Amino acid sequence: MGVEMGIIEPAVRLRPRTEPSDPAETGVLSVDLAALADNWRTMTRLAGSAECGAVVKADAYGLGLAPAMRALLSAGCRTFFVANVVEGEAARAVSQDAAIYVLDGLVPGAARRLFAADLVPALGSLGELDEWATAGRKPKAAIHFDTGMNRFGIPIRDAAQAAERARHIAPTLVMSHFVSAQMRDEPRNERQIEAFLDARARFADIPASMANSSAVFLPQRPHFDLVRPGYALFGGNPTPYAECPVRPVARLHARILSTREIEPGATVGYDGLWTAPRRARIATIGVGYADGVPVGATACDAKPAGEALVGGVRCPFVGRVSMDYVVLDVTDAPRDAAQRGDWVELLGDGVCIEDAAARAGTIGYEILTRLGARFSRRYAGI
Ligand SMILES: *Cc1c(COP(=O)(O)O)cnc(C)c1O
Repeated sequence: MGVEMGIIEPAVRLRPRTEPSDPAETGVLSVDLAALADNWRTMTRLAGSAECGAVVKADAYGLGLAPAMRALLSAGCRTFFVANVVEGEAARAVSQDAAIYVLDGLVPGAARRLFAADLVPALGSLGELDEWATAGRKPKAAIHFDTGMNRFGIPIRDAAQAAERARHIAPTLVMSHFVSAQMRDEPRNERQIEAFLDARARFADIPASMANSSAVFLPQRPHFDLVRPGYALFGGNPTPYAECPVRPVARLHARILSTREIEPGATVGYDGLWTAPRRARIATIGVGYADGVPVGATACDAKPAGEALVGGVRCPFVGRVSMDYVVLDVTDAPRDAAQRGDWVELLGDGVCIEDAAARAGTIGYEILTRLGARFSRRYAGI
């Protein structure tokens, strides 16, 4: 995405897609469920003969588990991944018959809760495998192998032992996870695939899964039997080296609460981190770090940072991001789009997640998953 100041052509609107009905609203998160379903279909197509699941951990990457799951179910998705049991129970409440995997694996003592909601843990150690085997009669499980992440997973050298002990359970999936699949030419990807093939050979009849969003695009096509994208479904770019292959799902708009003219040399916000280099028109909008706007998007004299679209023009953040507010330099925006009460775009067609993340020194995943609870949430498209 371009990061230059200027008019964004052609489709950016001055107003959010869904005009807020409540005049008291100051921040609106709009979630396009049709785009979400479409992104799942795109990933399904790219996965070829493999099934396409959906990772919906962290409240569907911050966008809302239940509406996201319903959209994915109606598109045809049948296999879901969450991080923990509590998320799994929430997912089970949305679908009685979907397969739901819990990526945390088996937390000591959590077997009963997993069973009760028919959740399948991704077992990440021989100890978990043994504990799960005693928890029921041949309970279903995914077996997670570590091919380099060193976070979860049974080491490849223990694959024979895992196969032996897995006779007491019913494996439904063998899986592993990439370290840097978003880097297309990273040699580690190949090494991880080879390691996974070693382990998988001991589970010949069990479906295998290795690919997150980015890995679906790797030249090796490590799709196996099931791909498990998350980020790309929610509009994140899984191919940072190329054009984004999926549609934006989240749009974030905030309202201008106050405007003023300031003189050259005046500073803005806490600690006076930004000094106006010229006479400037500034606008205070009603979102801050309590809403998930990273403090890393703070703009000081030495470092430009976050941006918002105001009347189609990119306007920079000025000064520190505070709890409830961000201040924008709207000098270059059309005056009639930068009045008290007007809406500005923080994420959407004109400001992509990656751009917002890069400007805040973080990653798009964090931008999404930190979207705050204070926004009014609008779901459209289904
Ligand atoms: C989060 C996660 C995914 C999804 O990754 P994306 O990059 O969001 O597509 C897949 N597998 C595992 C094990 C994960 O933790």
